[in-house]
Amino acid sequence: MNFYLSYGAGIGSEALRLWLLENNWPHEAVYVDHGCDWPETQEFVKTVPNLTVIKPNVEGFDNLYEYCLHWKIVPSFKLRFCTDKFKIRPLYKYFKRPAVVYIGYTINEFKRMKHSRDDDLHNQYPMISMGWTLEDAINYIKSKHQVVPHRSWCWFCPFQSQGSWKELRRNHLDLYHKAKELEQISINKNKGMTLAAGNKYLEDITQEKQGELF
Ligand code: SF4
Repeated sequence: MNFYLSYGAGIGSEALRLWLLENNWPHEAVYVDHGCDWPETQEFVKTVPNLTVIKPNVEGFDNLYEYCLHWKIVPSFKLRFCTDKFKIRPLYKYFKRPAVVYIGYTINEFKRMKHSRDDDLHNQYPMISMGWTLEDAINYIKSKHQVVPHRSWCWFCPFQSQGSWKELRRNHLDLYHKAKELEQISINKNKGMTLAAGNKYLEDITQEKQGELF
């Protein structure tokens, strides 16, 4: 049997990585670098020891943003092609069967638990079994090394909050402009389909016209 940690470099998977190490549970931590995690996350990943980093290859693209630009599409709430093609499939391709795959969801995320679609891969959620909340995970990380990672999602993810879009504009203006560029391309091609939730324009979400930064 092989043992893997599906490592997303967020709070949950970092807490679980530390817990697996502390408790001597054998595993290989695997991170898919699709080039579009927040810069803070990409920097954090560089500090993680013994991490296996793999790259996706989706129709020749290893970068999710470049893929979206090419096809003039935005990540979709409904289809979630981005997660499937740029995260799950590369991991499934890498894992040697049979395997147990540890996933760092906390109890707040129990609705996301699911069986693997491959009979030889068995998902396990140790932190949910232990009843850990997100707060527990944060406190555990702090007790170990004090550095709590940035929330793990793409910088142009449609699922991010209004506050996160504002943070992107405030701290990474270049990426914010790239997100707007993709949004405009999608609007032109897909009859008004915006990047963010609720079919709202990024410039409205971030109150760009009012000059607001916070
Ligand atoms: S973080 Fe968002 S944009 Fe990135 S792969 Fe996941 S759902 Fe898609």
